[in-house]
Amino acid sequence: MNPAIETTQLKDIVAHAKEYGFVFQSSEIYDGLQAVYDYGPNGVELKNNLKRLWWESMTQLHDNVVGIDAAIFMAPQTWEASGHVAGFNDPMIDNLDSKKRYRADVLLEDKAAEYERAGDPARGAALTAEMGRLLTENDLAGVRQLILDEKILCPVSGTGKWTEVRQFNLMFSTQGSSVDADAPPVYLRPETAQGIFVNFLNVQKSARMKIPFGIAQIGKAFRNEIVARQFIFRMREFEQMEMQFFIRPGTEMAWYETWKAARRRWHEALGLPAAKLRFHDHDKLAFYANAAVDIEYEFPFGFKEMEGIHSRTDYDLTQHQNLSRKKLQYFDNDLDPATGKAYGNYVPFVVETSVGADRLFLATLSNAFTEETITEGEGEAQQTKTRTFLKLHPAVAPIKAAIFPLVRKDGMPEKAQEIFDELRFDFRLVLEERDAIGKRYTRQDLIGTPFCIVVDGQTLEDNTVTVRHRDTREQTRMPIADLRAYIGEAVSFRRIFEKL
Ligand code: ATP
Repeated sequence: MNPAIETTQLKDIVAHAKEYGFVFQSSEIYDGLQAVYDYGPNGVELKNNLKRLWWESMTQLHDNVVGIDAAIFMAPQTWEASGHVAGFNDPMIDNLDSKKRYRADVLLEDKAAEYERAGDPARGAALTAEMGRLLTENDLAGVRQLILDEKILCPVSGTGKWTEVRQFNLMFSTQGSSVDADAPPVYLRPETAQGIFVNFLNVQKSARMKIPFGIAQIGKAFRNEIVARQFIFRMREFEQMEMQFFIRPGTEMAWYETWKAARRRWHEALGLPAAKLRFHDHDKLAFYANAAVDIEYEFPFGFKEMEGIHSRTDYDLTQHQNLSRKKLQYFDNDLDPATGKAYGNYVPFVVETSVGADRLFLATLSNAFTEETITEGEGEAQQTKTRTFLKLHPAVAPIKAAIFPLVRKDGMPEKAQEIFDELRFDFRLVLEERDAIGKRYTRQDLIGTPFCIVVDGQTLEDNTVTVRHRDTREQTRMPIADLRAYIGEAVSFRRIFEKL
C-alpha cells in the first residue's frame, strides 16, 4: 500500500484492514489513487455504526439539535463568502533532489515534536510559536528561512535543498455548466459546515428552532491535501460529522466549554481510553475563530487531531448575508435582564464541533487491535501462540454474533439455522458450519464479533447454547430464549448514551 506508512503497528493495522474487509485502497487494481480509500464489507458496518452513534447522540439526545443532508455541490459564491477561495491554502515546499512535496508547517511541527521528545519542550514550543507568527503574517519567505535555520532535511533525499514556500489551494473544482464554458467552477465542498450556514434560516423556520440550537450533518468533504499519508488519517475524499450550534453573541465561551467537555465525554463513552485523548489548543487561530481546540487521539503515529471544536463567531453567517444580500438573522424575544427589553434581531454566533468519521474509524480500529500471547492445550501438546483480535465495543462491531453448530450432523445445523432466523430480525449475524470450532472462533475474533453462539448436543436436549466471549474467551451456557435480551443489552447504544 502506501510506502510512507510509518510505524509497524500502523502497517499491521493497514494489512489487517485489507485482509478482513475493512478498508481497501481505492482502484487498487490500477495501483490505487493516492489518499483515496474504500470501505469493505466489515468496514462499512463499523463506519455506519460510528456515524449512527454520532447522529443519534446529536439529534436524539438533544431537543435542540436537528439534522440536514445538504448537497456536495454548492453555489460558487458560497466559497467566496466563506473565505475558502482566497484562503483555504496550505504552505507547500518541494525538495529539489527528491522532488518530494511537503507541507512547510508540517515539517516545522515535526521538528518541534522532535525537540519535545528529546526533552526540550520549551524549544519546541518556541518553534511552533514562531511558525504561527510567520504563517499569520503570510511571511512565506520567513517560513522557508525557518526551515533552513532549523536544518530540516528531506527524509527521502536527506538534503536541505528546498524550493520557495508557496500557497496551494486545497479545493477541488469541476465544470459547473455543460453549456457555458465560462461559467465559474463548481467546487467539491471542502467542509460540510457551509451547507448548514446557508440553510440556517430554512432550518430555523421550518423546524421552529429557538436559539440556542444546533444543526448536525454527516457528509463527504474533499481536500486536495499536499501530503496525503498515514492511511485514512489524511484523505482527499473523507467524511465529516459536523454540528453548528447557533447562540446569542456573548455566550460563546460558555457554549464552547460545554461542547468541548461533551465531545470528549462522547469519545470516552465509546471506549477510547482517556489516556489516549487530549485537548490541544490551536497555536494559530483561523481568522474567523475566537477560540479553537482539537481533541487529539494517540494514533499509532502519535497524538493527532481527531475532532475540532471552534468558536466561529458570526463570521460565516455575516459573510453569507453580505454576499447574498439576504438577511441571516434571528429575532430573539427573550428579555435581556440588563435592559428588561427583548434581545431583538442579531446574527447568531456559532460554536462548531467537527469530527472526521474516518479518523474516528482509525482511532477505533487502532484501539481495538489487540495481540495477546495465549497458552493452549495441556501437557505435551501445550503451546503458546499469539491471538489477534479486535476489541471493538459491541455496539459498533460489524457482526454482533456468530452462530455455529458444533458439528454438521445430529440436527445441530438445523437448530443453528432456527436461532439465526429468529435473531436476524434484531442483529447482524453470521452462521458458519465449516471448519473446526477453533478456526471459526479465530475468524470472528479477527473482525471483532463479540459473541459466538455454539449449538451442541446439549442444545437439542434442553434448548441451551454456549456463548463464547471474544475478549476473555470464556464460555457461558444460557437458554436460547435469553439470547435476544443478552445480546441486545450488550450492543445497545443506550449503555453508551447513559454515560454522556
Ligand atoms: P488537519 O490539521 O489535520 O489538516 P484540519 O484542522 O484542517 O485538519 P478541520 O478543518 O478542523 O481539520 O476538519 C475537521 C475534521 O475533519 C478534522 O478534525 C478531521 O477529523 C477531519 N479531516 C480534516 N481533513 C481530513 C482529511 N484530509 N482526511 C480525513 N479527515 C479529515
